[in-house]
Amino acid sequence: AAKAAGKNQVRLFDPSLRVAQDRRSHLAEGLRHAVERDQLVVHYQPVVSLGTGQVQSVEALLRWQSPDGLVMPDGFIPVAEDTGLIVPIGEHVLRRACADVRPWFERHGVRVHVNVSARQLREPDVVEQVLRALRDASLPGRALVLEITETALLAAEEPEATLVESHLSRLREHGVRVAIDDFGTGYSSLAYLQRLPVDIVKIDGAFTRFAAEPGEEGRRRRALASAIVDLCRSLDLPAVAEQIETDDEADALRALGCPEGQGYLFGRPAPREAIGALLERPARLGSVPTPRTAQDA
Ligand code: C2E
Ligand code: MG
Ligand code: MG
Ligand code: MG
Repeated sequence: AAKAAGKNQVRLFDPSLRVAQDRRSHLAEGLRHAVERDQLVVHYQPVVSLGTGQVQSVEALLRWQSPDGLVMPDGFIPVAEDTGLIVPIGEHVLRRACADVRPWFERHGVRVHVNVSARQLREPDVVEQVLRALRDASLPGRALVLEITETALLAAEEPEATLVESHLSRLREHGVRVAIDDFGTGYSSLAYLQRLPVDIVKIDGAFTRFAAEPGEEGRRRRALASAIVDLCRSLDLPAVAEQIETDDEADALRALGCPEGQGYLFGRPAPREAIGALLERPARLGSVPTPRTAQDA
């Protein structure tokens, strides 16, 4: 009977969809045990001041050491969100990140950014969850920044969106800050800036990677980057330019007045041990800042 049903399905649906479906169930099954089997590893990537090169904070980025090999977030976060597994996984990341950042915060004032899904922010006890993670690591709220994407929030219906906003507002009363991630890629970025309780804007790599792009396309991206940086400045929101890979890009963003940056140029996501070592040698980070008037003025 199962065979017959399978045959029908193959006739009705594209077989490649079936393969994708099987792969998702396999992923979901593995993810179910990933936390307890200690397969989830948190890496950290520095966020630096473009002026001084100093590390301001680190972003926690999750990796899954599955039995089939290392899986990057884009390969399992969507499945974790669909299955609801993102809730326990997200709490695990939050607790790990708070524990790891504690010595860095004490010694260097370095904060930690943690990515959270809209699904997590709708949990009725998310505020208590976050405050508990901070308390157990003996960290003040200002050591933590929650990163949320505009696209994740757009998906929420009105009552749910209000719930998310009220949770974020309560956390902000405890000093936790909110960063809007991948800014500029959503459907209504500007509406979010108006509506959401936001403290930091992370400008998507699509706008910051203009130095590498020659000609008209590069000029358009640069104009957009410039407008976003100006917008953030006039709203008093610190901006972080994402995915900076070259000295040219860093110089150009510095010339636009973007205060902070993140990207392979300053450091790739790395295990906790590597970040600890990097923080002890801040002088080796990135390039030496060039004056704003140099070549881009
Ligand atoms: P994101 O939050 O926008 O994180 C930045 C992504 O850009 C990371 O990819 C990082 O490795 C990558 N990146 C950093 N610098 C550069 C660069 O110079 N060039 C390029 N090409 N890429 C760069 P990653 O680690 O694969 O994470 C992808 C996304 O997965 C994240 O995007 C975030 O949305 C999500 N994610 C990661 N960890 C978590 C988590 O713990 N919870 C949730 N809910 N989502 C997570
Ligand atoms: Mg992020
Ligand atoms: Mg981002
Ligand atoms: Mg992203």
